[in-house]
Amino acid sequence: MIELNQISKYYPTGFGKTYVLRQIDLSIKQGEFVSIMGPSGSGKSTLLHILGLLEEPSEGEYKFDGQPVQKLSEKKRTELHRTRIGFVFQAYHLIDELTVYENIETPLLYKGLGGSERKSRVAELLDRFNMVAKKDLFPAQLSGGQQQLVGIARALAHNPAVIFADEPTGNLHSDQAHDIMALFRELNQRDGVTIVQVTHSEVNAEYGSRVIRLKDGWLV
Ligand code: ADP
Ligand code: ADP
Repeated sequence: MIELNQISKYYPTGFGKTYVLRQIDLSIKQGEFVSIMGPSGSGKSTLLHILGLLEEPSEGEYKFDGQPVQKLSEKKRTELHRTRIGFVFQAYHLIDELTVYENIETPLLYKGLGGSERKSRVAELLDRFNMVAKKDLFPAQLSGGQQQLVGIARALAHNPAVIFADEPTGNLHSDQAHDIMALFRELNQRDGVTIVQVTHSEVNAEYGSRVIRLKDGWLV
């Protein structure tokens, strides 16, 4: 599903450049559950953002479903993002002014789905995540763990093939973290969703099937 070939990322500094990622070769198959680990500043978020099409690499080639991503038109790339990819953030990134229901519905509006299809898809997710009673609440009225559930439901709304999660439990207590990881494991094993998470937690990594480690921008 994912193939990185000699991917590097750098930023200009003074007369030179500072590398954040260096010559990363990586392939991830459909159905894997991968954890990206490494010290702070080692490039984990940057790698995840490149994988999730939120940032562009400076060098190298990224193929998604066999297609070289950098050669796609802006329109095709947006399309790829909206159909195949879901992104989960550490700080949830929910829209404060929208209810739980409306937050989950957002990607379906972008996708141009009709009213009744949107309604049934959001209802299905609310039901699965036991949030039917909370559908008209706003993010500020929920616990962190519940907000992250909404973030995950939103990421799943359009049925993506892969979820990229940047420290999804970084702001949560360990029992809430366990619930989120158990949910990821179920999505991976029961629904076949590929999961790629950045995590500092060895406990979280245990839920996955593979760990890749970064150090100073190198995949070690
Ligand atoms: P991690 O997620 O492992 O903590 P990051 O990918 O967030 O690492 O960042 C790696 C390094 O790249 C850090 O030193 C960070 O300051 C630097 N960095 C990230 N984005 C930029 C940017 N836009 N400009 C300059 N440096 C950046
Ligand atoms: P996270 O907490 O998810 O690791 P960061 O705080 O490292 O995120 O980065 C948030 C955003 O700021 C990213 O889009 C990254 O590219 C940018 N960024 C991070 N470090 C720097 C930096 N030193 N200079 C400029 N932009 C940066």
